[in-house]
Amino acid sequence: MTAPAWTIPSVRAALEAKKVSSRELTSEFFACIERRNPELNAFLALSPDRAFAQADRIDAIIARGEQLPPLAGVPVAVKDVISTCGVRTTCGSRILENYVPPYDATAVGRLESAGAIVLGKTNCDEFAMGSSNENSAYGPVRNPVALDRVPGGSSGGSAAAVAAGLAVAALGTDTGGSIRQPGAFCGIPAMMGTYGRVSRYGLIAFASSLDRIGPFATTVRDVASILAVIAGRDSSDSTSVPVPVPDYAADLDRPVRGLRIGIPREYFGEGMDLIVRQKVEAGIRLLESLGCVPVELRMPHTDFAIATYYIVATAEASSNLARFDGVRYGLRVPGATLLDMYKKTRGRGFGSEVKRRIMLGTYALSSGYYDAYYLKAQKVRTLIARDFAEAFQQVDVIITPTSPSPAFRLGDKTDDPLQMYLADIYTVTGSLAGVPGISVPCGKTPDGLPVGLQVFGPHFGESLVLQLAYAFEQARGSSV
Ligand code: GLN
Repeated sequence: MTAPAWTIPSVRAALEAKKVSSRELTSEFFACIERRNPELNAFLALSPDRAFAQADRIDAIIARGEQLPPLAGVPVAVKDVISTCGVRTTCGSRILENYVPPYDATAVGRLESAGAIVLGKTNCDEFAMGSSNENSAYGPVRNPVALDRVPGGSSGGSAAAVAAGLAVAALGTDTGGSIRQPGAFCGIPAMMGTYGRVSRYGLIAFASSLDRIGPFATTVRDVASILAVIAGRDSSDSTSVPVPVPDYAADLDRPVRGLRIGIPREYFGEGMDLIVRQKVEAGIRLLESLGCVPVELRMPHTDFAIATYYIVATAEASSNLARFDGVRYGLRVPGATLLDMYKKTRGRGFGSEVKRRIMLGTYALSSGYYDAYYLKAQKVRTLIARDFAEAFQQVDVIITPTSPSPAFRLGDKTDDPLQMYLADIYTVTGSLAGVPGISVPCGKTPDGLPVGLQVFGPHFGESLVLQLAYAFEQARGSSV
């Protein structure tokens, strides 16, 4: 794999110096995609018309000598659960095989208004349900770092595209880890902001109280720049919060000396690969050498996070996915009666993991079981959020591994859903608590597989999370 050459500042510098036009750069990216995508399967659809029209707009701005917008000419990829007007959006599912949204998600619109070039849509686990990208109806994505390995999931296509240099940045979604874990597996920084930070308008819902849109890029600075563009209140999403958005990239250089970094004991227990532990512990020592002060923490409800997440997320999914009935969107398989049509459409349209989730969620919500499962899970969710709130009274940020293992082999966990669910053990906590989190590269195993270090911050503490991740990235260089 060759290191991706372009970043947001280098695209800007090249355009301003007229070393390349936006149209030429866009063509270069499409040529790379054509070469590498057959092997990686990272893109499901390309949007050349839209991309070149935007590139021409950027080139016209340059020709007129006007000020370029912040993401001018930056080629980006968008996960296929995020709506793009006129560009097929499948959610990795057969049921939406031919669905073309009539509008853009707010995050996509904001990227384009800032000058970014949308190259196309990236592969993902069906309806973002999975941790390996193997639940896509359109075949798995391969990890560009090691082709026999998964890229992580569910935003595996976005992570693989950026890691392979097929896009400078990408949007993914994170419900229980789907941005951070593929970022860790593919060796790039990847971030979810606080719940409510980025509008979900146009995101096809999996679990609405958990879903978040966020960026992948090859540097923390680029992650900060993308987040700053997509964040902020949107009147089309009532859960987006009117908290002002700082200039994240401008704040990156703030010193981290004296920051208290919480190390929760529960994240370093059984079930974690030794090499991951070693890398993350070395990462913590590096942060100490920068003057950060480690504080050992207890977050006692961590053990219940997987069970809680898989009740809350499946309950919400069972409700959200009821809309795919063969009447309103996508696939319709004719049947003798209305009920027969529903059954055939949903039976053929959904893959097995999605069906499993709908059944789990429907069960957890059904009368007689609601109190025992759903209601209890909501209460435990509050306890998990309280663990975070209490931790942030003692520390500025929390440091954990992103995933208990590096990228596993394709097919390794497909027969065992529980093993697959356990891969989310360190990410679902922050999802349930609504706090921001980033995964930042933290070295490689002797086999060359990337390991990710996760940084959580308090609600709306994105600046702090990014500063810490940036200081870590700068200190680590490419050596650790
Ligand atoms: N792996 C988790 C799941 O399958 C998380 C998915 C996500 O964040 N979209 O639900």
